[in-house]
Amino acid sequence: LGNKTAAKPKPRFLRVNTLKITTESVIEELNKIHMVDKDDMVPDMLVLPPGTDLHNHPLVTDGKVFLQGRASCMVAVALCPKPGWKVIDACAAPGNKTVHLAALMNGEGSIIACELNKERAKTLQHTVRRSGANNIQIVNGDFLEIDTNDPSYAEVRAILLDPSCSGSGISAERLDYLLPSHSRDNQDDVSTSSRVMKLSAFQKKTLSHALSFPSLERVVYSTCSIHQAENEDVVNSVLPLATSLGFELATPFPQWHRRGLPVFQGSEHLLRTDPEDGLEGFFIALFVRKEVGGTSEE
Ligand code: SAM
Repeated sequence: LGNKTAAKPKPRFLRVNTLKITTESVIEELNKIHMVDKDDMVPDMLVLPPGTDLHNHPLVTDGKVFLQGRASCMVAVALCPKPGWKVIDACAAPGNKTVHLAALMNGEGSIIACELNKERAKTLQHTVRRSGANNIQIVNGDFLEIDTNDPSYAEVRAILLDPSCSGSGISAERLDYLLPSHSRDNQDDVSTSSRVMKLSAFQKKTLSHALSFPSLERVVYSTCSIHQAENEDVVNSVLPLATSLGFELATPFPQWHRRGLPVFQGSEHLLRTDPEDGLEGFFIALFVRKEVGGTSEE
């Protein structure tokens, strides 16, 4: 019968930190010992053969490249922040997406990186330092307590919201680094579904809060969960508010085949990745304010 269940070895992905080095220089350096390809969808993302271990490579330790998954990198690209914008990363630690935003903005403009947990805020600080970005302000506090009418947030044009989630789309060995222990999904735990419902309520609250900033043009909501309750249901529940504020759902990466579960009209705009795609389970929703913003396809 052969071994039908053996998992196909996955390629290794890395993101070039263009604040410190060009993608071409990294390709030239890595080509000396590895086969390197450019990813066909995510800019500055390189693909290496399965099993390539770069953890101690100087490019990694110097913060010139980040060992970040492909689906994770799609989130900041979907937000598409322009150099010079003021942007919030609402739930930021350990900061992979924060420093990706800084690279996409060429280090121009400003990023407010908010993180509730004190220890994780330190990890965030370390990631920011390693990236070389100098336009990131770390706020160790509760995003929900930021006053959307505070004049210092009046010019915020984009928010990346990647809140605590069950992590059900991520392989177990990477969870320690990515998620606080209290929010992890435990398949053996009978209370998993009640935990997911609690997370879902928190996610709805934070997404509604994010949409309420006055000058906002773009909001990305993402999770590394496969649960509908943390994904489509969260988006569906905020749609009346989003619509009343002039937002509509846009289509991040329109060429990508796997969209949201068909549980409401418009869910085809949403993006899902799945282990079947050779990726971790991620979810991305993009809200764009009609009268001031364009769509991700522009
Ligand atoms: N975006 C991060 C990255 O890619 O590196 C991962 C973010 S992780 C999924 C969610 C983070 O949100 C956790 O570090 C958690 O401590 C933080 N968090 C949870 N509730 C928060 C709140 N109310 N305000 C700010 N941060 C919060």
